[in-house]
Amino acid sequence: MDHGQRKQRAQQIGAADAYPHRFGVVASCIVAGSIFAAAGSQLQNPLPEQLSAEFAPASARPSTAATSAPATPFEFVAVTIGRNDTLDRIFRELQLHVSDLAALRNLPDVRHNLDIIRPGDVIQMTHLGGELKSLTRRINETATLSVTRAEEGFSANIVENPLETKEQRLTGTVDSSLYVAVNEAGGTDRLAVSLADVFKYDIDFVNSVQPGDRFIVTHEQQWQDGEFVRDGDILAAEFVNSGRAYRAVRYVTPNGHADYYTPDGRPVRKAFLRYPVDYARISSGYSQARWHPVLHRVRAHRGIDFAAATGTPIKAAGAGRVIFRGVKGGYGNVVELSHSNGITTLYAHMSRFAREVGVGDRVAQGEVIGYVGMTGLATGPHVHYEYRVNGVYKNPARVTVPKADPIPANLMEDFRAKTAPLLADLDAPADGPVRVARAGR
Ligand SMILES: [Zn+2]
Repeated sequence: MDHGQRKQRAQQIGAADAYPHRFGVVASCIVAGSIFAAAGSQLQNPLPEQLSAEFAPASARPSTAATSAPATPFEFVAVTIGRNDTLDRIFRELQLHVSDLAALRNLPDVRHNLDIIRPGDVIQMTHLGGELKSLTRRINETATLSVTRAEEGFSANIVENPLETKEQRLTGTVDSSLYVAVNEAGGTDRLAVSLADVFKYDIDFVNSVQPGDRFIVTHEQQWQDGEFVRDGDILAAEFVNSGRAYRAVRYVTPNGHADYYTPDGRPVRKAFLRYPVDYARISSGYSQARWHPVLHRVRAHRGIDFAAATGTPIKAAGAGRVIFRGVKGGYGNVVELSHSNGITTLYAHMSRFAREVGVGDRVAQGEVIGYVGMTGLATGPHVHYEYRVNGVYKNPARVTVPKADPIPANLMEDFRAKTAPLLADLDAPADGPVRVARAGR
């Protein structure tokens, strides 16, 4: 196999441009560093031109290196692991010395970090005529294995590149939608979802959020190498819905359980979700008498209909036990749950049931029990949701659901101490600066 063929193989197994940008940057820096460390001035141009130009340390630019004797440049290969690939196979196909692979595996701590490979992983190597000079691979999000040829054998080290946590405070006013408002304030779609998730027990973000509603949110962000990686947890937030303010603060108990609480230590979480589907539009509310679109007569509608696409997951509104799962006349496919305090909930017109949930099974709040459909008497895909207390129908939108237990008295002091600075953020003037993680947290 000559140079050209090798290159072709590297491309076949998904080289160069196939790997993610972030990885490429991190790994290339390390490759450059390790090559120069290993080979010093011998090196002419081991990396593809754009890589060496961008990432090679200034002291090791080709102009410096070129002062040495004429040397064959190292060849750089980036291999994306495919299904059924093994390192042995990759080494053989690239005509790299298999004895080098054996030597790598004998290094302390390397074997494990080298041999567990998954499709999509990227391994970068440099070699000279098949003799391995360096190898780097990302072990996880924050650690990269870097092996370089030493005077004798190889030396390996793990380069740590930790994530940095920053806090960001955003404020905004809803004009068209929460997504747009959060985006305009500088937040991601995921942050908008998280914000809605924090307040979902009190606020119906699809049917009751309106222009003029406001929010303040302090949340964590993960950064690496000066680049945003992802959003972290919301630490504190306020949402003003129709002039009424709701506040929530994240508190982690000494035994590590995290949840959201009101400023006075009451859980934001309630025993029941407002609705059994996320972000669905109410197509028909609860009423004692309404014109039934299929039956064509006036009839009480003792539940709420949520229009959603067929297949949308339907969630148990509260923790409970399945007491019915099957067909119930015009309700089509129905699941009925029994909860504490004599409460039962019913979910109708399902296209199908969640496979693993049968009669007698316990379900957790939010667990998927079935999927939206239009079985039975229905003009379109929706879930018909009923809430009963001791057999008496209640309006799920109006019912006062039992609250979860407050912070125990012995934790109140800890709760106040930890949440006071977060809650103070909510009262700070708008457009506060982005701050680095709070000391001691
Ligand atoms: Zn209905």
